[in-house]
Amino acid sequence: MRATRIVLLGPPGAGKGTQAQRSTDRFGIAHLSTGDMLRAAIHAKTSLGRDVEAIIAAGKLVPDPLIVAVVMERIAQPDAKAGFILDGFPRTIGQAVTFDDLLHRQDAMLDRVIELTVDDTILIDRITTRARQARDRGHAVRADDNHDALKVRLAAYHEHTAPLVDYYRAQGILVSIDGLQPIDAVTQDIFLAFGEQAI
Ligand code: ADP
Repeated sequence: MRATRIVLLGPPGAGKGTQAQRSTDRFGIAHLSTGDMLRAAIHAKTSLGRDVEAIIAAGKLVPDPLIVAVVMERIAQPDAKAGFILDGFPRTIGQAVTFDDLLHRQDAMLDRVIELTVDDTILIDRITTRARQARDRGHAVRADDNHDALKVRLAAYHEHTAPLVDYYRAQGILVSIDGLQPIDAVTQDIFLAFGEQAI
């Protein structure tokens, strides 16, 4: 069977993590969240973790070559052979171009890029609520889920990541979905992009 390779694009708080998990379950592919990978590296105090900790806490992007290397190593793992849904990568045109090139060399390409659209005012609300709920439940709050870092993350999204929408549209693989809909409706739209019904 041929692999399914999906990129999920959207600003912080758009619901990428939730939707990626659902697609993972449905399509039997690996969920690759670069944010989760980097946070795991920080937690494990690896040299990668030490290199990126301050950058992430500030809400800035880590350097392209570093994250490309992390992703390429991860997609070479056995659980990604059937395919993957990337959540948080690529995030710059440079990452996207390099990734296309590296996939191409493996005779592979992306099948779809799913963009979740949500406007900034809602995102700030969603993320501050997520941080408050985590704190109330006694869970750890992400170092970058605070007002200052969030502003930097949104600015980074608009400046560096939003241009990927046009980049992938030009390739004819972009599907834009309204991320303000209820969670199940978003899932339904994503599955429909693959010609499948959610229920
Ligand atoms: P968000 O909620 O902002 O989408 P993520 O969990 O995807 O957060 O990423 C958290 C942080 O990890 C980013 O703000 C950035 O510092 C770093 N990061 C994750 N993926 C990338 C990437 N592809 N390129 C550069 N930095 C990244």
